[in-house]
Amino acid sequence: MRITDIREKAVSLADPMSNAGISYLQMTASAVAIDIDAGEKGTITGYGFSSVGRYAQSGLIEERFAPRLRVVEDMTGADGGLDPVRGWAAMMANEKPGGDGDRAGAVGVLDMSLWDAAAKIEGVPLWRLLSERYNEDKAHDRVPVYATGGHYYPDGDLTALTDEIKGYLDQGYETIKIKCGQHGLDDDCARIEAVLALLDNNGARLAVDVNCMCSTSDETQAMADAYAPYGLAWIEEPGHPHDFELLTGLTAYYDGAIATGENLFSMSETYNLMRYGGLRADKDLIQVDPALSYGVVEYANIVRLAEAGDWPRSQMVPHAGHLLAFHTVAGLQLGAHEIAARPDFLLGGLQAGVEISGGAATLPETPGIGFETHEQLWAVLADL
Ligand code: MG
Repeated sequence: MRITDIREKAVSLADPMSNAGISYLQMTASAVAIDIDAGEKGTITGYGFSSVGRYAQSGLIEERFAPRLRVVEDMTGADGGLDPVRGWAAMMANEKPGGDGDRAGAVGVLDMSLWDAAAKIEGVPLWRLLSERYNEDKAHDRVPVYATGGHYYPDGDLTALTDEIKGYLDQGYETIKIKCGQHGLDDDCARIEAVLALLDNNGARLAVDVNCMCSTSDETQAMADAYAPYGLAWIEEPGHPHDFELLTGLTAYYDGAIATGENLFSMSETYNLMRYGGLRADKDLIQVDPALSYGVVEYANIVRLAEAGDWPRSQMVPHAGHLLAFHTVAGLQLGAHEIAARPDFLLGGLQAGVEISGGAATLPETPGIGFETHEQLWAVLADL
């Protein structure tokens, strides 16, 4: 088996939404297709689509990583199937350790395409292939999910926020995450209280993402004091992703759960977070995103690393809500899958045929990742 073609294009994710850190008006993502000569099975095309929030990686893909993949002579693994590990090793040749950054997302979206192709060649959904190769054939029966929304909009107000969240509850979600941190703690508390009123005032059903708004321990403590009475499911990304001193101070001060890791991109960065971040394996959540962190090959090692450090898989909750993360959570039996719940967002929802009820999703049976059955994503991937 060998790669016969790789195609990439940048796709606009432009949207009026914003969080405490960034606007999405200029946001882009990479869409990728990789053709595999699969012998008797003909040409199989695997697709990938970047995670959200870190822009397209067209230059890195076209100049550096796709050329390394194109010259791999044989992608066949020991079991006779397509082995994405071979592609991963070729892409990472002559790459120094560290400095993961955008490179990890470029490799990640190519790795995603290889896994899509590998599962299609086997004729199984990706979650099943991942459970076979990395989890002793075990998988979730139903995938725990939560809905992410509640961004800021130019004309947004509390009524618009609660209308949006009502829509998610109607779709079958039980736990919701909203954005805070853009307009100060009084505004945050008003947003939290408005949404809690829809959730039986049960803070365990509401998470709050502040997108790195805090820079000092005075700020993290003021935030913790303001949020603590609500008993939130978790507070997400309190400060800069590399500020472990700030994070350690917060976890010593605040009893509730903290979630972080979406802006760390490798096993070594995850190791540092676990070793030096002051996180508590019985309550805090690690949100490293496989699509931004060199793909499934690296992420499977991150899960092994976590378990070696006594972090249960229940505490691994990948960022972003893309379909790769859904299959990874299902096949590796991780804690939960985040879903970008706004149906009109390009990356929104899951593939057709997956049903959500009681805060969990059914497993898809479409071979591969299932981009072909996700209406919005297929609309941009089909012409690749
Ligand atoms: Mg986040």
